[in-house]
Amino acid sequence: MTQKKTKKTARKADQLRQQALASLNRTVKKAVASFKAPEDLSVMEWSDKYRQLSPENSAEPGRWRTSRTPYLEEPMNAFTDPKVHTIVVVASSQVGKTEMELNMLGYEIDIDPGPAMWVTPTAENAEDFSKRRIAPMIRDTKPLRKKVSGSAAGRKASNAILKKKYPGGMLTLTGSSSPANLASVPARYVFGDEIDRWATDAGGEGDPWSLLEARTATFYNRKMVMVSTPTVKGRSRIAKAFDTGTREYWCVQCPHCGEWVFVEFDNIRFKHEKIQVKTGGDVQYRVHDVVFCCPECGCISDEQTIKHAPHEWVAENPDAYQNGVRSFWINAFSSPWMSWEHIILRFLEASGNGDPQKLQTVFNTLLGKLWEDRGDLATDDEMIERREHYGAELPDGVLALTMGVDTQDNRLEYEVVGYGRFNETWGIQKGVIMGSPGVPDLPGKQSVWTRLDRLIDKDWTFANGKSLRISVTFVDSGGHYTQDVYEQCARRLNKRVFAIKGKGGEGIPFTKAPTKVDIVREGRAVGKAWLYTIGVDAGKERIMKALKIGDPGPGYCHFPDNAGRSYDGAFFNGLLSEKLTLKGTRWTWEKIPGHQRNEPLDCRNYANAAEQLLNPNFDRIENELRNEGTETEAPRPTRRKIIKKQQKRRDYFDNY
Ligand SMILES: [Zn+2]
Repeated sequence: MTQKKTKKTARKADQLRQQALASLNRTVKKAVASFKAPEDLSVMEWSDKYRQLSPENSAEPGRWRTSRTPYLEEPMNAFTDPKVHTIVVVASSQVGKTEMELNMLGYEIDIDPGPAMWVTPTAENAEDFSKRRIAPMIRDTKPLRKKVSGSAAGRKASNAILKKKYPGGMLTLTGSSSPANLASVPARYVFGDEIDRWATDAGGEGDPWSLLEARTATFYNRKMVMVSTPTVKGRSRIAKAFDTGTREYWCVQCPHCGEWVFVEFDNIRFKHEKIQVKTGGDVQYRVHDVVFCCPECGCISDEQTIKHAPHEWVAENPDAYQNGVRSFWINAFSSPWMSWEHIILRFLEASGNGDPQKLQTVFNTLLGKLWEDRGDLATDDEMIERREHYGAELPDGVLALTMGVDTQDNRLEYEVVGYGRFNETWGIQKGVIMGSPGVPDLPGKQSVWTRLDRLIDKDWTFANGKSLRISVTFVDSGGHYTQDVYEQCARRLNKRVFAIKGKGGEGIPFTKAPTKVDIVREGRAVGKAWLYTIGVDAGKERIMKALKIGDPGPGYCHFPDNAGRSYDGAFFNGLLSEKLTLKGTRWTWEKIPGHQRNEPLDCRNYANAAEQLLNPNFDRIENELRNEGTETEAPRPTRRKIIKKQQKRRDYFDNY
């Protein structure tokens, strides 16, 4: 071996040693890094120092500032309070509640790591949330980017989405109905997001929240965070949890009397006007003179005065702190991103369109209020008691008529229903046409269909002589006479008589576009008919909600006591024949004992569906009725002609 060669070998060996040492040092450094004493910060301080709001999720991207949403400071600080193990936040949307949860998560990963679970209503939500919110937070927030390895490229994508590893812990994301995930790993931290929309049961394993609580049992320093917009009174998981906690409300000090008062919808006063919009558009409103009226002293203050006045969390039940549960209630009136006017407009639009579901959404997500199902269903007797006397065939307020027809082997049952603004309804005429739907007109005996035409062709009159006709009729095609119903409806297309098929089950929309079906005679298609599928369960829920409204006005159902209209005991017994009951995890409609006939409920359901699809332009109808009213001097035949013309014109606006 030459000297040169020996030197070269020695140098190479030395190089290798150096490399090995460097590599070892790197490894040690990495390992030591995770043992570095954490910074002594609160969640708020950590967020203000490190947290970056990602541009794709924030109107104000860049550094997080707690001062923008001062109401989030206390809930965040509760996260580092060793006495508190459960934090409950009932919050409207647009108040920053998700960012608050993400701040807690970021703090946990960076400062006080441990095994964590993030649970969303469904598994799809979990994946979506991870991609849309958690990944950008990790990317944009420096200490997290360095620690979370799930975000590194090259890892299995699915693993990286639902599991995020970091020194000292791992975050698992899952849906509330996945029992395997909920019961598998111990968790020191649990983040329950939108828990009012969670499954009532995790795949037969029981209440998902209880399963999660069991996961945390071994950790003395556990933290459970429940966050949700509220839903329906009596069925809201977050509201129940809120009640067991400190029950803290974000209160303002009234500039007039100095009392600490909660700013909520009940204490907001405003004036509004309806703006006429083009045909087909939703009704729009203008809102002005929006003020806060102090419930203590009755003095009024404007929005800016209230938003800049001192605020404080006021606890209704401070003793719950001893049990380690702090609960907070925040509505959109405190949000820096939403004006009161905007909230009121959303409320007016929802109530103006008369859809209880939309109104509930506004209650829950903006007003931050529980939606009240107004008490239990009335009894048949109570419904009979509240009937009223109509002074004419059509009471004032009715702006459109539809009819629902239930088909039985020996008869048709029908109800003509009147509709006004804000989903107020009037029962107009209930009745039965005896005879088989399969028997045609015979000499001396008209078919049930010809007799039904009398109702469809009739001019239903108001007290002042004006009149309306039935705009749409829906006929049930279930049962033994499906083809007859198809055929008879096809013949009456110009009168807008349509066949419908009721479909039960959760999640089926009340109405949707029709399909074309064959009319089959002796095995041969002899024609076509339109068939509408009606989500009957959604419709029943709507009826029951409306029946619970106790005062005339939006949503109220009127019934006449006039003789011959048939709103009698049998009618109400049928209308109130079913109720929604929770069977295991599913809500199902069940017959109430003693209520055997449900035709009145079906007829009303079909009439409502017809109205929903008709979607009448009430402003226009009202204008037409009113304009016509100015011509009361005109001879009656002319006026009739006008009505017919108007109805015909309305035909063109519907896409049947
Ligand atoms: Zn006051």
